[in-house]
Amino acid sequence: MENTCPVCGELKARDHASVLKRCGACGLYFRTERVFISPVYAPGLEDGIYGSAKKELFAEALNSMESMLNGKGRLLDIGCAGGEFLKAAAGRGWRAEGVELDTALAVKALARGFEVHTRPVEEAGLAGGAYDAVTVFEVFSQMEKPAAAAAELLRLLVPGGVIHIREFNAAFHLPLYRLEKAGLFRPLGISPSIIHNLNFRARTLRFMLEKAGFGDIRVRNSPPTAGDPYRTGGALGGFLTGALKVLYYWLAQALWFITLGRVFAGSTLIVTAGKRPSDGHSS
Ligand SMILES: [Zn+2]
Repeated sequence: MENTCPVCGELKARDHASVLKRCGACGLYFRTERVFISPVYAPGLEDGIYGSAKKELFAEALNSMESMLNGKGRLLDIGCAGGEFLKAAAGRGWRAEGVELDTALAVKALARGFEVHTRPVEEAGLAGGAYDAVTVFEVFSQMEKPAAAAAELLRLLVPGGVIHIREFNAAFHLPLYRLEKAGLFRPLGISPSIIHNLNFRARTLRFMLEKAGFGDIRVRNSPPTAGDPYRTGGALGGFLTGALKVLYYWLAQALWFITLGRVFAGSTLIVTAGKRPSDGHSS
């Protein structure tokens, strides 16, 4: 069981480093012993992580979905935290609700006036064909059953509905993790790599969405969050860390361009996809 890939169900996973296994079929790197850490950050960091650092990313997500849908509608945010994105969406005229498993965060979103479901989405029993858009910001990496969740999200969408995903890119974080373990960043006091239970790369996300039945799957490097909300930059400080992140984003974009769209090196990825209009009777 622990060798089974949670995205594609393959049994071919190979040992890799000490804590991670790599799926030979879809490219997922996953922890064999899952860790479930509820997102509790040091006092004062939460606003940066959920709010100000993501303001532009939230606006970009809403712009993108509004242009894909040619309008607004009903939206479900998976892992809605305290309702920060729901608030941004509602402010632009979306009918927004969320899924949040962390009780303290769910209560916060509820207090902001949003409907919040507290079961994993694949177990929540929500009505099929009811949502115009689904957003999943850095949540697939934490999920117990990502493939089941992806299939359920397709079912929840109206025909022609869209999904917008932001996810950490393992093609960036795993090499960094190895350098970090080797002690390269120790003199600077920084810890830039992020390793989750599930570590996706572009082709893994594409594979998972195709398998779930999504169409029109598009992957792009995500612009970074503003500044250093997670305080991983140590002695570099917020401004320099923020500047380095922007510089790196443009290097990743340059690499994407010169490889004709084949290589995604960005630290995070954005994936958009749609529910085909002909899938309308499946829910
Ligand atoms: Zn796999």
